[in-house]
Amino acid sequence: MSDTPASHLLRSLLHDHRGMLTLAVVLISASALLELLPHLVVYAAAVEVFSASPAEGWLTTLAVVAFAGVVLRFVLLGSGYILSHRVAFALIRQLRLDLTAKLGRVPASFFAEHPSGDLKKTIVDDVASLEAVLAHNIPELASGLFVPLVAALVLFASDWRLGLAGLALLPVAFLVQASFMAGFKDAWAQWHAAEARANSGVLEFIRGVAVLKAFDRDASSLAKVREGILGIRDLAVAMTRRSMAGYSIFFTLMSGNLLVVLPVGLWLNLSEAISRNQLVLFVALGAGMLQSLVKLLFLFGDAQKVSAALERIRALLGAQELSETASSGPLPERPVVRFEHVRFTYPGRERPAVDDLSFTLEPGRITAVVGPSGAGKTTLVKLLLRDYDVDGGAITIGGRDLRALSAAQRTALLGHVSQDTTLFDGTVRDNLLLADPGASEDALLAATRASYAHAFIEALPDGYDTAIGDSGGRLSGGERQRLAIARALLKGAPIVVLDEVTANVDPESERGIQEGLSALCRDRSLLLIAHRLRTITQVDQILVMDGGRLLDTGTHAELADRCEPYARLWQDQEQADRWTLIGSAA
Ligand code: ATP
Repeated sequence: MSDTPASHLLRSLLHDHRGMLTLAVVLISASALLELLPHLVVYAAAVEVFSASPAEGWLTTLAVVAFAGVVLRFVLLGSGYILSHRVAFALIRQLRLDLTAKLGRVPASFFAEHPSGDLKKTIVDDVASLEAVLAHNIPELASGLFVPLVAALVLFASDWRLGLAGLALLPVAFLVQASFMAGFKDAWAQWHAAEARANSGVLEFIRGVAVLKAFDRDASSLAKVREGILGIRDLAVAMTRRSMAGYSIFFTLMSGNLLVVLPVGLWLNLSEAISRNQLVLFVALGAGMLQSLVKLLFLFGDAQKVSAALERIRALLGAQELSETASSGPLPERPVVRFEHVRFTYPGRERPAVDDLSFTLEPGRITAVVGPSGAGKTTLVKLLLRDYDVDGGAITIGGRDLRALSAAQRTALLGHVSQDTTLFDGTVRDNLLLADPGASEDALLAATRASYAHAFIEALPDGYDTAIGDSGGRLSGGERQRLAIARALLKGAPIVVLDEVTANVDPESERGIQEGLSALCRDRSLLLIAHRLRTITQVDQILVMDGGRLLDTGTHAELADRCEPYARLWQDQEQADRWTLIGSAA
C-alpha cells in the first residue's frame, strides 16, 4: 500500500504488534518455502533414477524427507496463522473500543450528520474487514513473493536464462491484474455507500417495525431496505463482470508456468546450453514456482476495499471533539447554575432556537420551564448537558464556564432523564445500580420511593431482581420513566433535569412523583420541562418561553396574574382537561 493517510493509520495501529506480526510472516513464509520441497524431491529422485546405478535407500530417504516437509509445513502454517489472527483480533478489539469511546466525546451535532447505519458500518463492518489484511494479506503477500524469489535464485544460480524464463510470466500477470483493477477504488467507494444505505434502511425498519405493522404496510413499503439490498446486488454483479477477465488471466498465467518452462528448457537442453539434470531441476521447480502467487489473486481488490474502510475509520477517529479546557480545584457541593444571555442556533437553521436566555437554578429550588411546542425548552436542556456549545453568552455551574468542566465533572454534576428513557437488558436492580454501583439498599429504596417506582417494582415477579427485557420492553412506558427517574436520583448529582418525564404517567403517580421529588431534592437544583401546567403549580419558579426567548419568570400565582401567554396556556389546558369525546362536559 502506498504512503496514503490510510496506510499511515494501518502502520500506526500495527506499531505495538510489529513483533508478533513479523513472527507470523516468518512462519508463514517458511511454510510457503516448504512448498518447494516436493519439487526438489522430485528433482533429486529423477536425477537418482536416471543415474547409472540408482540407490534404493536414497529414494526412501527422499520419501521420508518429503513427508516430514509436509508435516512441518502445516505446523508452521498453523502457528503463523494463529499469531496473525491474534494480532488481527487484538487490533480489531482495540479499534472498536477507541471508536466507541470517540462517539462519547463528539458533540451531538455529529450524530445528526452521521446516520446510525453509517456509524454501525464503520465500527462493525469496516473494522472487521481489517481481519483479511492483517491475518491473511500481509503474511500471504510476504510468503507469496518469497517462494518465487527463492526458486528464481536457485534457477539463476544454475543458469541465468533459467531464472529469467521462470519469472517471465510474472510482470505480465501483474500488469494485467493492475490494469483490470484500475479505477476499482471508486467502485469500492460506491459499494461502501450502498452498504451504508442498506444498513440505515434495515436499522430504520427494525426500529419502526411496530408502527409499520400497526398500519398494515406490506414489505413493498420498505423501499429503503429493498433499494439498499438491490443496490448492493447490482454493484456486486457489475464488479464481478468487470474483474472476471483480469482474475481469469492472472490465475491462468500463474498456474501455467509450464507453458514457458517446458519449451524453453527443452530448447536450451537440445542446444546443449544446459545439462539434462539442469533441465529436470528447471521443470520441477519452475512449473510450480508462481503457484503461491495465486494467493495474491484478490490482493489488489482487497487492498482497495480496505483502504476505503481505513479512510472512514480515520475520519471517525479524527472527528472534531467537544473542546475541553482543563479546570482546576473542586467545585462547590451545591453549585448554582447560571444561563447568561445564552444564544444558540442549530447548524443549518437561520432562527436561533434560544436567544438572550438568562436565568438561575439554585440548590433546594425546583424550576419548571413551560412554553408551546418549539419554544426551545429541550434545546435549553441540551445546552446544559453540553450536547451543543452556546453561540453567544455563557452557561456557568458553580461560577465556572461549562466549557471549562471536564466530561467527568459534568457527569458527576448533572442527572438527566429525557423523554426517551434509556434502559438496558438486565434486572431492575442492574439498571438502578448503573447510576452508582456502590449504592446502599437504603439509598436505592429512597430513590425508588421518591420516583413512585417502589410499589410497582415490588409487584413484579422477582421484585428488584426481575429482568426487564431489551430496552425495558417488559415494562409500561410510565414504569420505565419512573425507573429512569429513580436512577437519576440515585446518582446523587446536585443538579437534576427531568425533560417531560411524567408524560406517560397516570395523574396519581404524577402527584406521587412530585411529592417524592420535592422531598428528595431538598438540597438539589431541580429543572423540570413540563407540558402539563397542573403538575407545576407548586414549584419555586416557572420560566415561560416562546420562540426561543424567555417571556417571564415567577411563581404560578404571579404568572397567572401578570403573564398573558402563561394565563392563556393555563386556560387552554384547563379547557382541554374538560373535553370529552362526545362533546364538552357540563
Ligand atoms: P416540544 O415541546 O415540542 O418538545 P421544545 O420547546 O422542546 O418543543 P425544541 O426541541 O427546543 O422545542 O426546539 C426549538 C426549535 O429548534 C424548534 O424550532 C425546532 O424545530 C428546532 N430544533 C430542535 N432540534 C433541532 C435539530 N436537531 N436541528 C435543527 N433544528 C432543531
